[in-house]
Amino acid sequence: MSNFLEKLGSEDWLLADGATGTNLFDMGLKSGDAPELWNIKYPARISNLYRGAVDAGSDIFLTNSFGGNALRLKLHNLGTKAFELSKISAEIARNVADRCQRSVFVAGSVGPTGEIMEPIGDLSHKIAVEVFLEQAQGLKDGGADVLWLETISAPEEFVAAAEAFSHVDLPWIGTMSFDTAGHTMMGTSPSSMVNLISSMSNKPIGFGANCGTGASDLLRTIQDFSKSAPGKNLIAKGNAGIPRYVDGHILYDGTPDLMAKYAIMARDSGAKIIGGCCGTKPEHLASMRNALEANPLMPAPTLEQIELEIGPFSSSMKPVTERKNQKRRRRRV
Ligand SMILES: [Zn+2]
Repeated sequence: MSNFLEKLGSEDWLLADGATGTNLFDMGLKSGDAPELWNIKYPARISNLYRGAVDAGSDIFLTNSFGGNALRLKLHNLGTKAFELSKISAEIARNVADRCQRSVFVAGSVGPTGEIMEPIGDLSHKIAVEVFLEQAQGLKDGGADVLWLETISAPEEFVAAAEAFSHVDLPWIGTMSFDTAGHTMMGTSPSSMVNLISSMSNKPIGFGANCGTGASDLLRTIQDFSKSAPGKNLIAKGNAGIPRYVDGHILYDGTPDLMAKYAIMARDSGAKIIGGCCGTKPEHLASMRNALEANPLMPAPTLEQIELEIGPFSSSMKPVTERKNQKRRRRRV
């Protein structure tokens, strides 16, 4: 059994990390640049990004490889670099983790391919598996403890990644982004994700939600997961507050105090690994760690309490079947 599985089994909760993208933008990344190129261009900055999370108390942090698959890198003329850039992202992370006094774990981040899979889109299952496998192998060779699939919308893509990961000898975690009225953009709900996972042969050791819209919506999603998958290792990685558009930029104005409340509510709602997504900085993580350590486990908050403490929900939980059908119809004409 890997050390990470032992750690996961022995703790009540683990703190994950915060944002990668929004923190890199703060370090000077320009929109349109490939963040993964910074692994070779500015390795010291990537090391600083990782150390920021570790020093703030994260038990596990994600590599700078979210868009490091061949299909996304192709858009930056880096399509042949997926293995190399993923491997280096994990090597830099391994180095940071190994220098830490505490046990800290490296999660190899794998994001969506950026393409739409068959039958709605053109990306075949076979190609998707190959693309995910190349990246996963790079992350493993670079020293990742666990693979971490995130921000997925399409169940087909989740399945393709799981198959790819079965060829790499590492445990994996998978989260989707429930950004459309409590569902993913492609119409998947937490309970349908749980059903999907129960039908898969290479199951993730943990699953849940990341990103989406605000932290309130994410907590509601975690409560949904708790109902359909009690006792499982649930992952909550919510954005720091609610995204707001200001002068063409997306700003997250969640304070460290707000994220501390979110962290406690996520754990009380059933999450085992709690972190932040967009807008979450080291100061948020430190505040989350303190709050989790200081507050004993309580019953799950009500939706009213979430709304009161964290902020309003961005939407009601309307099923989006109709929206999905519309999309299908549009594509066929
Ligand atoms: Zn995010």
